[in-house]
Amino acid sequence: MNLVFLGPPGVGKGTQAVQVARALGLAHVATGDILRAAIRAGTKTGLEAKTHMDAGKLVPDDVVNRLVRERLAEKDTENGVVFDGYPRTRAQARALDLALAAAERKVTGVFDFQASDEIVVNRISGRRTCGKCQSAYHVSFAPSKKGEQCEKCGGALVQRSDDLPETVLQRLEVYRKDTAGVSDYYRKSGNYAAIDANRPIDVIAADLLTRIKKQS
Ligand code: ADP
Ligand code: AMP
Repeated sequence: MNLVFLGPPGVGKGTQAVQVARALGLAHVATGDILRAAIRAGTKTGLEAKTHMDAGKLVPDDVVNRLVRERLAEKDTENGVVFDGYPRTRAQARALDLALAAAERKVTGVFDFQASDEIVVNRISGRRTCGKCQSAYHVSFAPSKKGEQCEKCGGALVQRSDDLPETVLQRLEVYRKDTAGVSDYYRKSGNYAAIDANRPIDVIAADLLTRIKKQS
C-alpha cells in the first residue's frame, strides 16, 4: 500500500499521515521533515534546501527526488508508505512512479485534502512543532497537554520559521502555481479521492481509514 496525501500547506496532511501510518503499519515519508532534518544536520543538501524553504519556495525536484529514492531504499518502507507533502510537482509525481516501479510497486491511493485559504492560514498560524521529534500541535485545535512541551518527548514547542505570515502567503501561491496541478496527474487514476479537510481531526482520520480499507 503506497498512499499519497496531497493538499495545501497547513491543511492537515501530516496530522493524518502520522495516524494512518501508525494504524496501518506504514512508513511515514514527509519530505518537509526530511529536509528539516538535513538542515539540522548541517549537510550540503540541508544548506541548499534552507534558502528555498525560508523563501517559501519549493526545493528543486532533483534534490527532493533523490532524498525520496534514498528513503525508499530503507527497509521500513517495504510494507508501504504514506507520502506526505510529496509529490509537489508533476515531475516529482513521474519520478515517484518510476522509483516505485523499480521495486515493482505503485501508488495505490491518493487523498487530496481540501479546505479554504482562511482555514489553512488559521491552522498554519497556530501550528507549533516539537523542535526535537517534529510532532505538530495547534494552540487552539490540538494543544499539547504539557503546555509548551511536546507530549511525546518533552521537547520545546516552536513556531516553524516558514509558518510566519509573509512566508505562508508565498507558500500558498506556490501551491496554486506548481502543486495544485498534481491532482490532475492522479485524478484519472481511479484511486483518487478528494477529502473534505474542514472537519475535526478524528472525523477525517476515521473517514480515511474507511476509504483505505475499501480500496484494499
Ligand atoms: P500539513 O502537514 O498539511 O502542513 P499539519 O498536519 O501540520 O498540516 O496541520 C497544520 C496545523 O493544523 C497543525 O497545527 C495541526 O495541529 C492543525 N490541524 C490539522 N488538522 C486539523 C483539523 N482537522 N482541524 C483543526 N486543526 C487541524
Ligand atoms: P512542509 O513541511 O511539507 O510544509 O514543507 C516545508 C517546505 O519544505 C516547503 O515549503 C518546501 O520549501 C520544502 N518541501 C517539502 N516538500 C517538498 C517537495 N516535495 N518539493 C519541493 N519542496 C518541498
